Amino acid sequence: MTPHFKIAIVGAGFAGLGMAIRLKAQGETSFVVLEKAGRVGGTWRDNTYPGAACDVQSHLYWFSFDAQPNWSRIYPLQPEILANIDAMVARHDLLPNIRLNAELGSAAWDERDSVWRLQLRDGRMLEANIVITAWGQLNRPSIPDFSGVANFAGAWFHSAQWNHAVQLQGKRVASIGNGPSAAQFIPEIAEVAGHLTVFQRSPNYIVPRQDRAYTEEELAQFATGPARAESRELYYQEHEGWFPAFYPGTERAAEFEALARAHLEEQVADPVLRERLWPRYPLGCKRLIISDDFLPAMARPNVTLVTEHIECIEEKGVRTKDGMLHDVDVIVYGTGFDTLQFLGAGDITGRGGRSLRQAWHAAPRAYLGMNIAGFPNLFMLYGPNTNLGHNSILLMLECQFEYILQAVNAIDQHDGRPLDVRSDALATFNRRLQNDLQATAWAGSCISWYKTADNLITNNWSGSVEDYRARTSQLDLNDYEFVEAPPQTARAG
Ligand SMILES: Cc1cc2nc3c(=O)[nH]c(=O)nc-3n(C[C@H](O)[C@H](O)[C@H](O)COP(=O)(O)OP(=O)(O)OC[C@H]3O[C@@H](n4cnc5c(N)ncnc54)[C@H](O)[C@@H]3O)c2cc1C
Repeated sequence: MTPHFKIAIVGAGFAGLGMAIRLKAQGETSFVVLEKAGRVGGTWRDNTYPGAACDVQSHLYWFSFDAQPNWSRIYPLQPEILANIDAMVARHDLLPNIRLNAELGSAAWDERDSVWRLQLRDGRMLEANIVITAWGQLNRPSIPDFSGVANFAGAWFHSAQWNHAVQLQGKRVASIGNGPSAAQFIPEIAEVAGHLTVFQRSPNYIVPRQDRAYTEEELAQFATGPARAESRELYYQEHEGWFPAFYPGTERAAEFEALARAHLEEQVADPVLRERLWPRYPLGCKRLIISDDFLPAMARPNVTLVTEHIECIEEKGVRTKDGMLHDVDVIVYGTGFDTLQFLGAGDITGRGGRSLRQAWHAAPRAYLGMNIAGFPNLFMLYGPNTNLGHNSILLMLECQFEYILQAVNAIDQHDGRPLDVRSDALATFNRRLQNDLQATAWAGSCISWYKTADNLITNNWSGSVEDYRARTSQLDLNDYEFVEAPPQTARAG
């Protein structure tokens, strides 16, 4: 017998785990969380590079419906986040619902039986009435298509697959990339490496971080009483207040630009290096970097910044377009993730045998980032256009959990009839969204993980968290239809 569940969640990072907690709190018992890896944690399981940390303050990087951990510092480091995720799973007794080493390979909607038939990569099958994808936007490491990557004789790895067996002490190391992950590991490598060469495609705006461990008194205050909730609310309002900076030409954008410029001038004495580290695109177009140690690391005598673009990788190192070979022992690819596919599994097939790849041939799009017309009872967490440049992703996930719970209730109230978003509702939503996005910095002249080569912004939400909360607070059934099962054809015999 094929195991059957009412709900299958795909992925056990913050999204899948938070959804599971909320379903359980509503009394749902028939659900399973499929996780391809051997343990939970998603981003915070995979990214173990030196210096890995969250860029949102700890009090804001947690679910409001769960007990707040007593965080040790303002910005949490990866080991503390992962330990707190493990504690959350134990607190909510989620392990019985989680299947580890269970990678979804494909899912197909069976119109006759109104059920999703799921196939795992190892061949196992299961079925579910409702599928909720929680496979993340930053989960599939990407290395650019340089020729010769495999010819390199030294050690090489991606930042999300850090090889801790490779010693960097005294070595000549290359960091290809200078984005948010690289900005965290570059200062750590620079401390120990003989020499570090940083290959930069384009510079970033960098603003102060001001991280520190909490004092004993603060920890005591946060452990009891309202101090932690007050701290969370303050950070929330502060981040929401950043949002106008993502509109070029505003006062807020100018303030942030001035902050980044002052930070650069304070931290880098060499005027030539400064100019090479100063971006020439609208603030926010690429992810803002929050760091106090990246710029000082770039100014160290054992660090070289290379802005010439890469031609290829060779046995001995990295050759740039000017013909120069940069001899190195180790290459670290801080080159980010495949962020534009939004597909964590091979094939998702909806009504009429149409695949998600076909539905998204132009670009991924989903109503409120969650529903795609023709794919009944399929919901996405952290789907297309739900990423933020200014605030905690967990806040967006919380809106999605509550919205999906409303949808599950609506399905229950309609005798389990499958729910599909109307294609005209999706089209109208997407047209407005893309129109609103055109005024933001993300539409500016930079290459970023938020958009396609044609400048179509597929990753970011167009507004603040408040805007998203308002849009998702009430499920509007006018934008959906309950699908009729097709008439059963008489079987021969
Ligand atoms: C280095 C780094 C730093 C970040 N910093 C911040 C920050 O400061 N603030 C912020 O708000 N966000 C940050 N993010 C974004 C972060 O990804 C989100 O905050 C959040 O962790 C996303 O959770 P998720 O569950 O949606 O995705 P993930 O954490 O990526 O989890 C997805 C899970 O799905 C599993 N999976 C994928 N495909 C399948 C499949 N086919 N079958 C079964 N399982 C599958 C994966 O193994 C993984 O466990 C950061 C991301 C990275 C990579």
